[in-house]
Amino acid sequence: MAKGVSNKKARIDALAHLGKDLTRRCRAHCELCGHGNRGLEALEVEPLPAEPDLDHTMFICEQCRQAMRPKELNHQYWRFLETTIWSDLPAVQVTAVRLTRRLSVQGEEWATSLLEGLYLSPAIIEWLNEP
Ligand SMILES: [Zn+2]
Repeated sequence: MAKGVSNKKARIDALAHLGKDLTRRCRAHCELCGHGNRGLEALEVEPLPAEPDLDHTMFICEQCRQAMRPKELNHQYWRFLETTIWSDLPAVQVTAVRLTRRLSVQGEEWATSLLEGLYLSPAIIEWLNEP
């Protein structure tokens, strides 16, 4: 058990190391919604690599982290996915597709048509198909 805790701590420390690079990459703006200065934190996108790395991590704001939690997503909040889903950052695009799929399942027509018109690279499709 103690080992698990220290592994978790090691992962958080490793993630904190990415903070500077992430801040530079996103220019201190949330990589999902684009707003600045809203308590940005690193979030890893599953499936997780053995060590945290930049490609599997995004820097997102407090509002977006909260808005991801409920089972039923707030479709008004997530409307910006129409833009974000075209992100050239793989972790961001994968997250945007996952959220848009959830909204589509909830019956949001704009989310369904967004997915229908979407082009995804083979690497992104592979990532999305990983368990
Ligand atoms: Zn945000």
